[in-house]
Amino acid sequence: MSADCLFCKIARGEFSTEFLLETEHVASFRDINPQAPTHILVIPKKHIESLAHLEAEDQGLMGELLLAVKDLAAQEGLRDGYRVVVNTGRDGGQSVGHLHFHLLGGRALQWPPG
Ligand code: 5GP
Ligand code: ZN
Repeated sequence: MSADCLFCKIARGEFSTEFLLETEHVASFRDINPQAPTHILVIPKKHIESLAHLEAEDQGLMGELLLAVKDLAAQEGLRDGYRVVVNTGRDGGQSVGHLHFHLLGGRALQWPPG
């Protein structure tokens, strides 16, 4: 947990953000600046800065996060597919230093990204 991390604060409920799915270790909520009709962020409640900061002990947690992504995609009715993105570090375009999975769907997405 990091005192001044935005997503740690959201995970602690400091902003009364509506969680779409919440477990002991995982929280998910809609992105404030959606890039697709469905744009959900799925985060570990534990502060992990990025994918590059994962440790061996996080193996189970990563499975929980991806299963949450799958359940949310089903909940959102994304039957035609969706995209899962983990921006990592400066070149990866990460702007919030707390690991998060973007779940994007509800329209045909372009590839490759910019
Ligand atoms: P990144 O650029 O790090 O991959 O993704 C960070 C995401 O967090 C962005 O898509 C941004 O719109 C979203 N975001 C930033 N601040 C907030 C916030 O206070 N609430 C919510 N729900 N999303 C946020
Ligand atoms: Zn954090």
